[in-house]
Amino acid sequence: MSYLSTEIEFIKGVGPMKGEALRSELGIKTIRDFLFIYPFRYIDKTKFQSVKDIRSDGDIVMLKGEIVSVEKIRGNNKRVRLSALFKDPSGFIELVWFQKVKMIEEFITKGKEYTVFGKVSVYGGKKTITHPEFEEYQNDPELHITFDPVYPSTEKLDRMGLDSKGRRRIVKKILDGLKPEHIGENLSDDILAQLRLPSRYDTVQWIHFPKGEEQKNLAINRIKFEEFFFVQMQLVGKKSTRKSLLKGAIFDKIGDKFNTFFTQNLSFELTNAQKRVLKEIRYDLGAGYQMNRLLQGDVGSGKTIVALMSMLMATDNGYQSCMMAPTEILATQHYKSISEMVEGLDINVQFLSGSIKGKKRQQILQALEEGFVDIIIGTHALIEDKVVFNNLGISITDEQHRFGVAQRASLWRKNDSIAPHILVMTATPIPRTLAMTLYGDLDVSIIDELPPGRKEVQTIHKFENHRPRLIEFMHSEIKKGRQIYVVYPLIEESETLDLENLQEGYDKLLQYFPLPDYKISVVHGRMKAADKEYEMQRFVKKITQIMVATTVIEVGVNVPNASVMVIENSERFGLSQLHQLRGRVGRGADQSYCILMSGNKLSAQARERLTTMVRTTNGFEIAEADLQIRGPGEMEGTRQSGVNEFKLLNLAKDHKIMNAARYFAEKLLEEDPNLLNPGNIRILNYLKFLNPNQKDWSRIS
Ligand code: ADP
Ligand code: MG
Repeated sequence: MSYLSTEIEFIKGVGPMKGEALRSELGIKTIRDFLFIYPFRYIDKTKFQSVKDIRSDGDIVMLKGEIVSVEKIRGNNKRVRLSALFKDPSGFIELVWFQKVKMIEEFITKGKEYTVFGKVSVYGGKKTITHPEFEEYQNDPELHITFDPVYPSTEKLDRMGLDSKGRRRIVKKILDGLKPEHIGENLSDDILAQLRLPSRYDTVQWIHFPKGEEQKNLAINRIKFEEFFFVQMQLVGKKSTRKSLLKGAIFDKIGDKFNTFFTQNLSFELTNAQKRVLKEIRYDLGAGYQMNRLLQGDVGSGKTIVALMSMLMATDNGYQSCMMAPTEILATQHYKSISEMVEGLDINVQFLSGSIKGKKRQQILQALEEGFVDIIIGTHALIEDKVVFNNLGISITDEQHRFGVAQRASLWRKNDSIAPHILVMTATPIPRTLAMTLYGDLDVSIIDELPPGRKEVQTIHKFENHRPRLIEFMHSEIKKGRQIYVVYPLIEESETLDLENLQEGYDKLLQYFPLPDYKISVVHGRMKAADKEYEMQRFVKKITQIMVATTVIEVGVNVPNASVMVIENSERFGLSQLHQLRGRVGRGADQSYCILMSGNKLSAQARERLTTMVRTTNGFEIAEADLQIRGPGEMEGTRQSGVNEFKLLNLAKDHKIMNAARYFAEKLLEEDPNLLNPGNIRILNYLKFLNPNQKDWSRIS
């Protein structure tokens, strides 16, 4: 058995009890598992700060000193907290714990030296750190000189002596027994040399016990590169194998439908960006392989036309198309606008969703299977097994990060003989690094230009005291003949609460905008599809002037006469949602406005989001800001995507490394698609190790 596969309990100083704890708490079974849990921080012993140098609230500091007194205090709410007075040569600071009180109390020994790390709060001149990272100062030259690694832990592990201090000793033992052959290299000499990366063996040593800043950074960067490089190798590999293996229908003919649409039905000139993207798509569709393309474009950039024209190419070449949207409302909108746009072209467009039932459903399914339907538009009901195509040539999804990779793939299987072309559209732009990860196996087209004549939506952020002015403003806009959206947040955990908010808001609006002069539509998630549709239509037909809604109008609704978007409790929305909502206005010729109403108390993040909205209307910029504010793990669509599996790589920060990894993966697979070159054998082996079940690692399905 190899050294790395040795069970952790056999390491001296671990044993069965600690071994079991490591397994149950952190899933650590073997030496490999133990070694590959990296420190998330280091105590740099050359860089302790002094208490007296603490400047302000929120400073994050690392201190060295001793505890002079400990006190248990019972607060007003009967909760006991532990307060310890910590002293370094320059002054005093209070440390406070609300949890683990007993354990910490037992742990503290007066006179011993400790290191403290945490965020300082300064209140009335008094400095406190609540729940600091706290450990005995280690002066063990055996271990190393400057940096003490700090590992993720749990209360139980701490109690069993498996805190960072205990873990360091174990890691040290493991590393003492580790030989270079235990930890084979997984990158080629070529890449190591070009990027000047340390060997994998050195990296493992240095990530735990770096002798200085340089070793630490070299190790961290190599690990980040490796993490992203192997993900990219798989994605890029998938992409190129698909291209070489999966035949796609060839749409080589630009036929009547497309031409008639282009010359007669299309009422505007395409933007240059739309033309460019259509060219990219057309090339794919004629090339003989299966297209797998991601179409990114800002809200309102005109993705639907591009989608439709791609589908017309399919129709002209005798193939069916489908287009799938994440919500029923959006799917309905697509169905309506597309049906209108192709009027007179003799194209059979159908709609399918969960709410189409019984005989009607049967008819549609049958017509689809027999090939009478040219274009079908709908919700994820289209994925169901019962939906059978006669000969599907292209499938388009309007994603909004809501369909997973698995669902995307299930659409490919809708044609037995030939893989349908796939076009994925995101509702709002997503950051490049995230796109590289989530959609790294797709080609990318970007519409980076809005149709001409759009006036930038004016965005302002206002507090409750501004409400009378807001009402006045709404009146004056309605007088000008405009329409207004008022949107309330919908947060799933508290749907009742949100409905109450919406109901209350609606009642108030009724007072300010009374019948019969004014009429108000209401749409929320709990309504039946038909009722929603009815209310939507009243707004579309200008019977109502105001539309009060939860986020159901978030995607895709198109009412050009609506020029004001009021977002209530805007601090509760995410950035991309806010941007989506704002995209509902500014579609007509009039100056449009987006008014972000919020409470007075805003978290730092919420403030940041609202400031971003006011600062820019560029969706690509907003997407980047969102990633910075929230961090990659919190972005929609990242849950099961592997994005959260990076241990060190940070999608929000490591652009350079990610670009390099992508570049090297692409270059490598272009030069040596099957990794047959002896220099690349390590890479191939490591990919096999990562995917033991895949016979040919790069082949999909
Ligand atoms: P999105 O990219 O957000 O899906 P849509 O496809 O819904 O945007 O387009 C938004 C609006 O812009 C639609 O009303 C559409 O008809 C219009 N539009 C699209 N392309 C152009 C263009 N080149 N010139 C003028 N209007 C356009
Ligand atoms: Mg759209």
